[in-house]
Amino acid sequence: MSTDADCPFCKIVAGEIPADVVHRTGSTVAFRDLNAQAPTHVLVVPTSHHENAAALAQAEPGVVAELVDTAHEVAVAEGLEGYRMVFNTGAAAGQSVFHVHLHVLGGRELAWPPG
Ligand code: 5GP
Ligand code: ZN
Repeated sequence: MSTDADCPFCKIVAGEIPADVVHRTGSTVAFRDLNAQAPTHVLVVPTSHHENAAALAQAEPGVVAELVDTAHEVAVAEGLEGYRMVFNTGAAAGQSVFHVHLHVLGGRELAWPPG
């Protein structure tokens, strides 16, 4: 399993820094975003370190499905009628942590197109 000693999400996976974890599977951890943008804002990450969703799909394609399954489990547990799943990919698209994470947002009206 790949890890990066300087990565904040690897540290959350390892329990080295605290997080409000809401769900775990064999290969994923879901925790609340520190800077929530909606009443529900959860990040679902693979336990192994990959820079973005495309890199994860190349290395461990089954884990991409596990991220989506976990996002749905979280949305059901939170009672969301609808929700948004987002992979910001690359700094130009707003990615600031380079350990792939699926944002799960809901609990308010979500505008389209996004900003
Ligand atoms: P990005 O901008 O890369 O798509 O999303 C990174 C997200 O991670 C941001 O929404 C930010 O608030 C969140 N975040 C960054 N560091 C931490 C942390 O240490 N703990 C938690 N729970 N969220 C974090
Ligand atoms: Zn990492």
